[in-house]
Amino acid sequence: MLKIQNLHAKVEDKTILKGLSLDIKPGEVHAIMGPNGAGKSTLGYVLSGRDGYEVTDGQVELNGQDLLEQETEERARAGLFLAFQYPVEIPGVSNMEFMKESVNAMREARGQEPLSAAEFLKKAKEACKQVHLPLDFLKRGVNEGFSGGEKKRNEIMQMILLEPTLCILDESDSGLDIDALQVVADGVNSQRSPERSFIVVTHYQRLLDYIKPDFVHILADGKIVKSGDASLALEVEKEGYAWLGEAQEAGA
Ligand code: ADP
Ligand code: MG
Ligand code: MG
Repeated sequence: MLKIQNLHAKVEDKTILKGLSLDIKPGEVHAIMGPNGAGKSTLGYVLSGRDGYEVTDGQVELNGQDLLEQETEERARAGLFLAFQYPVEIPGVSNMEFMKESVNAMREARGQEPLSAAEFLKKAKEACKQVHLPLDFLKRGVNEGFSGGEKKRNEIMQMILLEPTLCILDESDSGLDIDALQVVADGVNSQRSPERSFIVVTHYQRLLDYIKPDFVHILADGKIVKSGDASLALEVEKEGYAWLGEAQEAGA
């Protein structure tokens, strides 16, 4: 599904990703952990095609297509979903309008008929319920005045409605309370399927108590330095990142 090879990327002349490789098959959940500043969020932004993130070497294939050739919109339509750490507000556009348009764009890309207003409303209501958001939430402006927990719930609602094939969730710095954490975990677990894959970026092993990853990777200084199964997260929890060396710790 996703094949990243030797990815190098820079931001404002600073090289952040330094030869990152990662292979994700359909249905797999990969957790990425690592010290602060390692490049975890950068990886998500590079994959989504955010402005200012320049790929200087390497390849990324999503479902057999060259992802790096595609515009941000095309990537989303190809099934990539990035739950942004700090989503932008779009005042004046309701969450409902925004999501209906986004969902129908995705459906069109998949060759499906668009949802009618009534059909969309039905799905949106179910999704609201699943992430414990009140219905009137749909009428509010996109991310306008949402609290941290509401943004998180909203992201998971978006993920449920958009039905992407590869979801990237970046939980590193979001300081989730236990309720929001549970919503994220339930959202991921309910959407897990043989066709859908997840990259879950997290600082804390705690999230992985609820989301059981197939693989755990440690990203340090722009590369995957260690990969393992779920037990690697427990190891990191116990031992921290000191084994990466002094230089890494200084940047943490
Ligand atoms: P992580 O998510 O692993 O904590 P990030 O990907 O956010 O790390 O950041 C990796 C490094 O890239 C950090 O040193 C950070 O300061 C730097 N960086 C990220 N974004 C920018 C930017 N827009 N301009 C300059 N430096 C950046
Ligand atoms: Mg960070
Ligand atoms: Mg980060």
